Amino acid sequence: MHPRRLIVLSAPSGAGKTTVARYLLETIPGAVFSVSATTRPRRNGEVDGRDYHFLSREEFQRCIERGELVEYEEIFGNYYGTLRSATEQALAEGKAMIFDVDVKGALSLKRAFPDDTFLLFIAPPSLEELERRLRHRGTETDEQIRRRLDRAVLEMSYRDQFDAVIVNDDLPTTLERARELVERAIAGT
Ligand code: ADP
Ligand code: 5GP
Repeated sequence: MHPRRLIVLSAPSGAGKTTVARYLLETIPGAVFSVSATTRPRRNGEVDGRDYHFLSREEFQRCIERGELVEYEEIFGNYYGTLRSATEQALAEGKAMIFDVDVKGALSLKRAFPDDTFLLFIAPPSLEELERRLRHRGTETDEQIRRRLDRAVLEMSYRDQFDAVIVNDDLPTTLERARELVERAIAGT
């Protein structure tokens, strides 16, 4: 099989996607993170240019108009999008690139780069556990948590369109499984 170096992680918010992405970046040699553009305000601890490119709505609109985004979506009232230049550069350099995008963004990436994309869905063991993790993380208000749980039901309905699904129950098992799957995708086996 053709090596698939664009590794796209999707999951309902709180399922563990960021945790898996960080682990893959540490363990897959040369892997880089796809830094998305967003209009969402920066959270404590986030760094512009590392976690996201934080843009105003006008700046984001200009990126859309200039065709600089491979895909974009409006999620929880903010825009999020993948930059075309960074993605094409990773492909040209033969580097693995890890994406953290919503389910629709994942399918758009597959359409844009069908031979190079590996879609990995991280599912929570249950919606109750998802809610517990979101509350424990403590980065959203009650209202934001409610919206994320509502959206989780929609996101879960897309899981069958992914190349692989991992139910993130025991974290070490999840991380090992993710690494195995991604190493195989990159090797093209
Ligand atoms: P996402 O990026 O999908 O929103 P995170 O990676 O931020 O999710 O994980 C949400 C919270 O759940 C974090 O506090 C994280 O430490 C915790 N978490 C991740 N995986 C597990 C797991 N298998 N068991 C228990 N807690 C977990
Ligand atoms: P958060 O605000 O928690 O960082 O992200 C909210 C949602 O936006 C998550 O599901 C995340 O995967 C998604 N997201 C982040 N960047 C992008 C992107 O570039 N494109 C799309 N489609 N979704 C993104």
